[in-house]
Amino acid sequence: MCGIIGYVGKRNAVPVLLYGLQRLEYRGYDSAGIAVIDKNGDKIIVEKQVGKIKDLQEHLWNRKIEGHTALGHTRWATHGPPTIENAHPHTSQRETISIVHNGIIENYLELKEELIKKGYRFRSETDTEVVAHLFEELYTGDLLETALKVAKKLEGAYAIGVISTYEPDKIVGIKKGSPLIVGFGKDENFIASDIPAVLEYTKDFIVLEDGEIAVVTKDNVEVYNLEGKKLEKKPLHVTWDISVAEKAGYKHFMQKEIHEQPRTIGDTITGFSSSKDEKLFEAIKDADRLYIIACGTSYHAGLVGKFWIEKFARIPVEVDYASEYRYRDRIINNRTVVMGISQSGETADTRFALLDAKKEGAKTIGLVNVVGSSLSRETDYVMYTYCGPEIGVAATKTFTAQLVTLLLFALEAGLKKGTVSKPEYKKLYDELLHIPSKVESILNNEEGIKEIAHKYMNAQDFLFLGRNINYPIALEGALKLKEISYIHAEGYPAGEMKHGPIALIDDKLPVVCVIPQDKYYEKMFSNLQEVKARKGKVVSVATEGDTKVKELSDDVIYIPPASDVLYPILTVVPLQLLSYHIATLLGKDVDQPRNLAKTVTVE
Ligand code: GLU
Repeated sequence: MCGIIGYVGKRNAVPVLLYGLQRLEYRGYDSAGIAVIDKNGDKIIVEKQVGKIKDLQEHLWNRKIEGHTALGHTRWATHGPPTIENAHPHTSQRETISIVHNGIIENYLELKEELIKKGYRFRSETDTEVVAHLFEELYTGDLLETALKVAKKLEGAYAIGVISTYEPDKIVGIKKGSPLIVGFGKDENFIASDIPAVLEYTKDFIVLEDGEIAVVTKDNVEVYNLEGKKLEKKPLHVTWDISVAEKAGYKHFMQKEIHEQPRTIGDTITGFSSSKDEKLFEAIKDADRLYIIACGTSYHAGLVGKFWIEKFARIPVEVDYASEYRYRDRIINNRTVVMGISQSGETADTRFALLDAKKEGAKTIGLVNVVGSSLSRETDYVMYTYCGPEIGVAATKTFTAQLVTLLLFALEAGLKKGTVSKPEYKKLYDELLHIPSKVESILNNEEGIKEIAHKYMNAQDFLFLGRNINYPIALEGALKLKEISYIHAEGYPAGEMKHGPIALIDDKLPVVCVIPQDKYYEKMFSNLQEVKARKGKVVSVATEGDTKVKELSDDVIYIPPASDVLYPILTVVPLQLLSYHIATLLGKDVDQPRNLAKTVTVE
């Protein structure tokens, strides 16, 4: 999950690396470092620091490091705790080669033993360090040739950047399983884990595929496969503005991204309609079962999607955690469709589970935000959310955009199958077009939600309840709160409360009830009364004008009225704001919560 950046070119590399690392910090932030080939090209200067990029920046202050070929890394530890020794870049024994790595080298113990026998001394506990020593051990006089040899020895998933004093004007990047892009500048080129890291300098990229190696100098980029054959790669031009990676006046990326939702929902509706893949809907017409596999917030989007797909397209849907789906005895035939949902399109669990299902004969669909990501290339069909980069670790705008896409997917599939009529489709579609302004009106009540956050910020635990299509929203509300405020929270289907969680209710427990005026309102209302009867503190998310709920609740957050099936896109928004404000009032780092990383490229 780490972030990698590499620079080779005419300017001093250090500020370029630091700028890029800040953009990549969402991928990992327990320690960071840089390796710079000094101006004379004869030695590698390595500086590392435990903590965030700003700690590295402070550490580098007044150290006048200059060089034109360099690597940077922000780490999310998998092997060995966050210490200076374990931070990347890692350097070979003779200090001639430095590398950064994202992923896991699964056979590192075996390789380490071999290298120790040959006299190599290890300075870190990481799996990564073997790669640095292997490069030195196998160096042939040519970095590309050596990279081909090293790659043959490595098992696992990785994106690796390499620099060397032997060839001081070159960076080699290897990709297998973790993301890596190459950016083209004028008299300078870059490698990075993702596009925003170098968006300040270029809008032209090559997205590397698994099993590809890039050789990058200041005025040339060549890509090879693992057999050493040179490849012709099609460059990608992005039109994103750099402001997508800035906070634009908001305190945190998370807050900015919550506020972007009216636009990202609107863009996703338009994007879906204008780039609909007819072949995809033809292919799923005869599906007898659809599996949705995902992790975290995307998994909750999948749970909502199940309601829509079963209702409109009449295809039975199972939703599974990708990490579980991958290792169970799933039943797949040629009418099985598997959809993987992943914001980054790089989530290892989801990717690998999809690849397995594809091998077994399933048709696969990816629902991703990042254009050109691994998952988008590996599945038979792809649908995009149109959100631009999401930097805050807690997913917000991509969740509502995933919901919109799943709803449109279900309606479109239903239309093709004849289970949805044209007028029914049109009615919901027209209503969907009003969702952005309804979300806007919820956002306008941010101050009110902040006051409620203030009231409950010191609670030890929270319970979130919802029914039917809003039950996954209760799960998502609980997850949001947990991940950024570190308060324990559970989401439950409200009807299930009496089978266990009701025992938790006392006068200290805030219970967030998602209770819009839909078909299940009365049932949900009874559950709310059950909470109140046990003195729980009720915070309701209810439809505007609902005085009945207001009377019984300690606090209410109103959302505008909508058709039953559209409510989840609205009810989740106050929950995002509630957790955001609780976490910021508690002084937590909402954009970079402890232990988490945004793109989880390890299993
Ligand atoms: N396995 C490497 C380490 O622990 C890289 C981790 C990652 O990519 O998340 O340092």
